[in-house]
Amino acid sequence: MELTLWTYEGPPHVGAMRIATSMEGVHYVLHAPQGDTYADLLFTMIERRGLRPPVTYTTFQARDLGGDTAELVQRSIRQAVDRFQPDALLVGESCTAELIQDQPGALAAGMNLGVPMVNLELPAYSKKENWGAAETVYQLVRTLLKPQLPAPGTPKPSPSRWREEGRRPRVNLLGPSLLGFRCRDDVLEITRLLAEHGIDVAVVAPLGARPADLERIPTADANVCLYPEVAGPVCSWLERSFGTPVVRTVPIGIGATATFLRELHGVLDLALPAELQEVEGQPSEAERRSRLPWYSKSVDSTYLTGKRVFIFADATHAIAASRIASKELGFQVVGLGSYSREQAREVRAAAAELGLEALITDDYLVVEKAMAEAAAELVLGTQMERHSAKRLGLPCAVISAPLHVQDVPARYSPQMGWEGANVIFDSWVHPLMMGLEEHLIGMFRHDFEFVDGHRSHLGDGAPAAASGADQEGSMATATVPTPAPATTATTGPAPGTTTAGAAVREALESLWTADGEAELAKIPFFVRGKVRKNTEAFARERGLERIDAEALYDAKAHFSR
Ligand code: SF4
Repeated sequence: MELTLWTYEGPPHVGAMRIATSMEGVHYVLHAPQGDTYADLLFTMIERRGLRPPVTYTTFQARDLGGDTAELVQRSIRQAVDRFQPDALLVGESCTAELIQDQPGALAAGMNLGVPMVNLELPAYSKKENWGAAETVYQLVRTLLKPQLPAPGTPKPSPSRWREEGRRPRVNLLGPSLLGFRCRDDVLEITRLLAEHGIDVAVVAPLGARPADLERIPTADANVCLYPEVAGPVCSWLERSFGTPVVRTVPIGIGATATFLRELHGVLDLALPAELQEVEGQPSEAERRSRLPWYSKSVDSTYLTGKRVFIFADATHAIAASRIASKELGFQVVGLGSYSREQAREVRAAAAELGLEALITDDYLVVEKAMAEAAAELVLGTQMERHSAKRLGLPCAVISAPLHVQDVPARYSPQMGWEGANVIFDSWVHPLMMGLEEHLIGMFRHDFEFVDGHRSHLGDGAPAAASGADQEGSMATATVPTPAPATTATTGPAPGTTTAGAAVREALESLWTADGEAELAKIPFFVRGKVRKNTEAFARERGLERIDAEALYDAKAHFSR
């Protein structure tokens, strides 16, 4: 048992639904209790789709459990095939159905349906949504490509066979799906980028593909694994079974987009265009197509240098964000983590590059605590981190699923490629206080309107927890954050803070003299929490009985050494 209030991922059958709904001509029969149709709303409301998901639920009720639920499964399958006439059928169970073990896939296999059928075995009590999505794509592709499997010992096709065949090279874009982060526009952006380099797209899957498209997958010269959470296993299987090379660099960010293009040219044996040649210490000509390098270099961005950023997302977006933040925007990454356990190794490696230990968890309270302790000035995360950051009064931008309706925008908003980097620059910098305002608030602290923590470009007042000591108080005391709204935060222990934690906090607070507090209040609000913690650590280490202005500046000198 695990007490859970928020969850980063749904059960694995929601992952399977994402695949069925992303595709056309696929139908999913889901053995599930009455009420599981809630998942339809993810697609009709968050993705704002105008069609019902292609899912038939058996919707059994308590009274059905006394009867023959297997018969109900067979009836549902038969009706779904007759009514929707799919090109391929998925059959599986939700969490509750898994317990009654009707084995709907085995039942469907014995029904002679006349359509390719995939029996989805998704362990709902040990795996989650992304795993379910990846397993569904993998099983579907495997089933459909079975007749094409090359005999053992068949030589691998050359990725440059396009040359002998007198055509342009072509690749598959694998992994984009509904409820993925900005997949719709990423596909457009990458398709355009490839076209500029004379590379065609053979199949995009699962998003928008039909089963017949999946059957064309082996005709491509390489597979581009755009979203490893969804397409990692299928790409590895295609590489093993068909010898199709995989491009694994995910083109999010300037450096990653350039690396992706170089890797792709290498795999396809294409001559590297001059604009992609690396120039010592300078962005290549291609990289200058995005405005991000110049924007982040221009003097207005100087104040971004060293901003403390905390990143928590799915593995793909977390890793990409950490590289953009540290290498392309000059931020200091003070926390990096992910809820994607399947890609934990890659996240740990990216964190190690930054001298950090990765936070791998699916407990948002652990993330919120780490965020508060890191004294971040900007949070890049999921919808959960947006809520946590709001409680802590921190600026935040959403960079990954789980997402909310505002992250399926009407406008073109990719994350990948050159234009994706432009979108990223704008959306990450937007929540921060603008440079001039930051400077002026640091200099003049008594304005009645532009108070501490105020971000006038967001059109709001000061963050609720940000006025004066409240801001740093809430950051420093949030050792056990609670869902209490930020407006209730005070300089005292946060509601829900442990008694022991409160006692320690109180003891520390009593050390501060009036002139120490006054000096602390002069520090700009976004770093004040960090300064308070450092000074208290310094005082504890030295056994100081009081923290006055002098102790504060001694601590400052100590930590800046
Ligand atoms: S079967 Fe699973 S997804 Fe459906 S209501 Fe129960 S716990 Fe939720």
